[in-house]
Amino acid sequence: MISVKEKRDALLEEELCDHCLGRQFAKLGHGLENFERGAICREIDDLEEDSFVRENIPEDADLGGSCEYCDGVFQKMDHWVELVEDSFDRYELSTFLIGIRPPNEAIEKEEALWEEYGIEWTEPIKTELSRLIGKRIEKELGIEVDFKRPDINAIIEMDENKDRVEMQVNSLLLYAQYNKYSREIPQTEWHCRNCRGSGCEECDWTGKNYPTSVQEEIQEPFKRETKAIEAKFHGGGREDVDARCFGRREFVLELVEPLHRDLDLESLMEEVNDNEKIEIFDLRPAGKDEIEEIKEKHADKMYRAEVELSEDVDDEKLEKLQDIKGEIEQRTPNRVDHRRADKVRKREVQRVLCERKGEKKIELVIKAEAGTYIKELISGDEGRSDPSVSETLGCEAECTALDVLNIEK
Ligand SMILES: [Zn+2]
Ligand SMILES: [Zn+2]
Repeated sequence: MISVKEKRDALLEEELCDHCLGRQFAKLGHGLENFERGAICREIDDLEEDSFVRENIPEDADLGGSCEYCDGVFQKMDHWVELVEDSFDRYELSTFLIGIRPPNEAIEKEEALWEEYGIEWTEPIKTELSRLIGKRIEKELGIEVDFKRPDINAIIEMDENKDRVEMQVNSLLLYAQYNKYSREIPQTEWHCRNCRGSGCEECDWTGKNYPTSVQEEIQEPFKRETKAIEAKFHGGGREDVDARCFGRREFVLELVEPLHRDLDLESLMEEVNDNEKIEIFDLRPAGKDEIEEIKEKHADKMYRAEVELSEDVDDEKLEKLQDIKGEIEQRTPNRVDHRRADKVRKREVQRVLCERKGEKKIELVIKAEAGTYIKELISGDEGRSDPSVSETLGCEAECTALDVLNIEK
């Protein structure tokens, strides 16, 4: 294996600047920059792996060298930093990440150099550049590099003719839970099927099937404060339009390309909750995996259903409803979108409690596994749901009002 000294001696034949020379030894020593490693390479004759320490840096080591391998990119540090800072100007952010697309020529020459002298101890030029530029921006703007999920990912395209910064602005994610107190609003915005949102006679020129939704009741102040270009609503399941929810359903509100991120969540929550249709709880920033997490949770739920019967039934029969327990089979309901696969699903019903509410009227409290079709569990859906309340009572049964009472967290 080639020694550090041998590699250095060979590389000195090339006319490398300190950055490019030092970069061939980037993995040696800690807390040094490559131009300092390059200066050590020229200073220490008997160069060894442990020569790369701070005491060996000559006093005249200097940032900003240039050679044919780097095409002068290190002399333009002010320019790169300014390009990025100008692009960041309209955004409020606390974390960022710099990516680099070096000039093509620099990449080709870097590869040729690696081929001739080996890749041991080296790092790519784009790694050095993104670190140097990132450090300066951290210092000048008081924001931090984040490798996992930065507010903004800025990619500097280094091209003689058109240097530019490509920005990927990450969404701002907020977690909360909602209750819905209206039987007239869907969870998310529904576009009119006839005009697909552009407005027509059928939808009274609103472009929508419903005047509002849980999403719309919640998102407006967040869109206003963040100046996001759009908001997306990711619910942990959904209830029917005509079902209320008292179970605090989890959701993530995604604000796409926000200009502002520093929000007064307390006062925004108050503003949203000045509302009779919905209420939100536990508003906080969400982690990047939380959309998936709440969508994958298959939470058991408790419902309250008002049920109308076609006949009056005696107490003895009503008591039998408690026996609807354990595994039930449900074929995809008739009312469900016909694009959904028609198949039989097995679901677990944990509990059915019944209370008489009047002539031909009962109220049920049902605890069941995620995905159970409650209205069909009651009506039987022409035999597609088995067993059912209707079949057990021997008469027709229809759910006239449904509430979600609890969603297990
Ligand atoms: Zn160079
Ligand atoms: Zn329409």
